[in-house]
Amino acid sequence: MSPTPSEIVLSYTDAAECVRRHAETLLSARRPVEQAPLLAASGRVLAQPIVADRDQPPFPRATRDGFACRASELKSGQLRIAGQLRAGERWTKGPLAAGDAVEIMTGAPVPAGADCVVMIEDVQAAGIFVRLAAARAPAPGENIVDAGLEAHAGGVLAPDRRRMTVPQIAAAAACGYATVAVFARPRVAILATGDELVDVTREPLPHQIRNSNSYSLAAQTLAAGGAPRLFPMVPDDTAATEEALAEASGMDLIVLAGGVSKGKFDVVEQALLRRGAEFFFTGARIQPGKPVVFGRLPEGYFFGLPGNPISTMVTFALFVAPLLRALGGEAEGGPRFVMAKLEEEVRVKTGLTRFLPARMDADASGARVRPIPSHGSGDLAAAAKANCFVVAPETAGQLTAGEMVSVLLL
Ligand code: AMP
Ligand code: MG
Repeated sequence: MSPTPSEIVLSYTDAAECVRRHAETLLSARRPVEQAPLLAASGRVLAQPIVADRDQPPFPRATRDGFACRASELKSGQLRIAGQLRAGERWTKGPLAAGDAVEIMTGAPVPAGADCVVMIEDVQAAGIFVRLAAARAPAPGENIVDAGLEAHAGGVLAPDRRRMTVPQIAAAAACGYATVAVFARPRVAILATGDELVDVTREPLPHQIRNSNSYSLAAQTLAAGGAPRLFPMVPDDTAATEEALAEASGMDLIVLAGGVSKGKFDVVEQALLRRGAEFFFTGARIQPGKPVVFGRLPEGYFFGLPGNPISTMVTFALFVAPLLRALGGEAEGGPRFVMAKLEEEVRVKTGLTRFLPARMDADASGARVRPIPSHGSGDLAAAAKANCFVVAPETAGQLTAGEMVSVLLL
């Protein structure tokens, strides 16, 4: 039997910190960049900042339909309507003369000399005159956004190394970016191991099971900004696993599922070792997912995830996704945790950080989370009802109903 790597079992915090350090190193390396049409860049990681090409707004913008005028004059009597200005037009008759007002529409440039826009609802117009009808006159500056108030030309509207959000897509469009530079999606090799596995397209014999991990891993890879490639399933055999690793060696990251436990036919770590792997950890004090493995081959990083479907999912979210996001150029791509109010008491054994399948629902008053009864890390039926995992820290034997708890998002 081939040698196995020496055991390095870390607490959840230390394992997460180990991955975070490697992710940080990756961020300082140059990564391939591509030019994406603006719409296709939604959710991609920006490889350039989005910069204002001119002041925002580019002119003093009326934010209400009404009359542009001088606030002090409006207070003291009626004003003469000197003309009308629609959005997309500009005032060409010079600065506003004393006692004049210009009827103006939202989005039009306020003529020079005017210091406020009084809302149409607050005035009474008669013929060529307009007067205040409301109790309160607008203050100087009211209903006008000055040129450059939101951003100056050259100002950064969206930083690089972050996923582009919907408001940033709008900001980029406003600044004339038809395309933007984004980091190329890292290519992720997905290798499911196990003699019992058959493909989703095949009818399993009674003692076989369908390979579900390749699909959940591919879906999680996509969500973390990677490009998954499903490799053929690998039998529980060292030589075959080594061959599969060789096949996958051109990819940016290798993710194996199954074969990392203590069983006689769990040969993934041996095969990795024979291909020259360095191991950063070979286990973490977590449940599910204790046998999770992280390391580096001469050609790049790999993870060996336990094959139980919920373990595979949770360890991907905790460890693989952060490293993958860094490979994709994304800064601060750590695991996604949020706080939610626990709806019922949870009792667990201490000693491991636990991730319990749960259902979180949120409305305007906040997020609430309820654990879903589960028969362990193979219970896909329970996981299929879940949309998150409640975190029970290593030392917490009990989480009380009503307390705010940390929740891992997939
Ligand atoms: P292992 O980590 O290889 O010891 O597998 C643990 C459990 O997960 C076993 O019950 C396997 O049959 C199951 N399993 C392993 N790989 C997969 C997979 N790709 N899809 C679904 N279940 C799997
Ligand atoms: Mg197995």
